[in-house]
Amino acid sequence: MGIQMEQLIDVGIIGGGPAGLNAALVLGRARKSVVVIDEGRPRNRVTHETHGFLTRDGIRPDEFRRVAREQIRSYPSVQFIDEAAVSVEGADGRFQITTAQGNIVTCRKLLFAVGKKDLPVEIEGLADVYGSSAFVCPYCDGWELRDQPLVLIAKGARAFHLAQTIAGWSSRYQLCTNGPDELTDEQREDLERHQVPVYRAPIRRIESKEGIVERVVLEDGTHLSCRGIFFSPNLAAGSMLPQALGCRMTETGTVAADVLGKTNVPGVYSAGDAATEMYQAIAAASMGSLAGAAINSELLAEAWASRA
Ligand SMILES: Cc1cc2nc3c(=O)[nH]c(=O)nc-3n(C[C@H](O)[C@H](O)[C@H](O)COP(=O)(O)OP(=O)(O)OC[C@H]3O[C@@H](n4cnc5c(N)ncnc54)[C@H](O)[C@@H]3O)c2cc1C
Repeated sequence: MGIQMEQLIDVGIIGGGPAGLNAALVLGRARKSVVVIDEGRPRNRVTHETHGFLTRDGIRPDEFRRVAREQIRSYPSVQFIDEAAVSVEGADGRFQITTAQGNIVTCRKLLFAVGKKDLPVEIEGLADVYGSSAFVCPYCDGWELRDQPLVLIAKGARAFHLAQTIAGWSSRYQLCTNGPDELTDEQREDLERHQVPVYRAPIRRIESKEGIVERVVLEDGTHLSCRGIFFSPNLAAGSMLPQALGCRMTETGTVAADVLGKTNVPGVYSAGDAATEMYQAIAAASMGSLAGAAINSELLAEAWASRA
């Protein structure tokens, strides 16, 4: 049986990654009562290191969260519930969140920091290397694979963009479109001019040893030796709860929110990967910080008005 929190909490935060945690830090320091509900399945859990976060370059994702929680614990008005939120109802001033184990949290304001999730990619052997030598973002992991022989796996406009981008880290790369390339004639000619080899045969499997990719084998028998892979995953919203509550969403599963994280639903905010398509931990933390301050301002204005 779950427990019901009798108290009306100031802010319910769903999602405890960099976005939700930074919002909790700001709100805890602003003396607001906060509950962070997190099921602990961030997109970057496959990887061993987070790069590009100033003062934390190279930190393990789980260590990042551990340190964040340790620091937030200095602010006793913040509590954590480590499970999934399964439903949200209500309206500005009184939302009710129910968790998988039947806990109920009632809160004035709501922040969705639910991230995004990868849709499965049906390529044999990819799961063995994802996060160790196959990555999705050159800014996150390009440095470690600089000047290495790489295979890019993508189609269409995303393939073209990835080929242009990866050139900043290595000139030794080949593009696998895993079936029809979906490129325009112009893109095809441009790749040819830049001498990017394009393979269109479907991928049979990825061969690796202890997480390190060795070659990509195609259905037509071609073997592409490489030391790393960058691929373009299809993503979906981290949770359907924002949509269920009436938040406007883009076609790609991103919550539409303004620069402070405010959505179209009064009292509801969103931050981090959930509300952007620029996937960087420090950007997510920054969005969480802004949303935390915006929520605090809204609460302070309401309290001020009620005292007049
Ligand atoms: C392989 C890989 C490597 C990466 N490497 C880097 C890197 O080196 N540097 C970098 O800056 N960025 C990196 N990123 C991107 C980075 O991980 C994200 O930008 C960042 O984690 C986003 O933070 P967030 O708080 O928005 O979401 P997340 O960190 O994804 O956290 C969202 C949390 O919400 C939880 N959640 C979702 N729905 C619910 C629910 N209904 N109830 C309870 N909890 C819920 C999830 O379980 C998760 O714990 C990488 C991403 C991937 C996939």
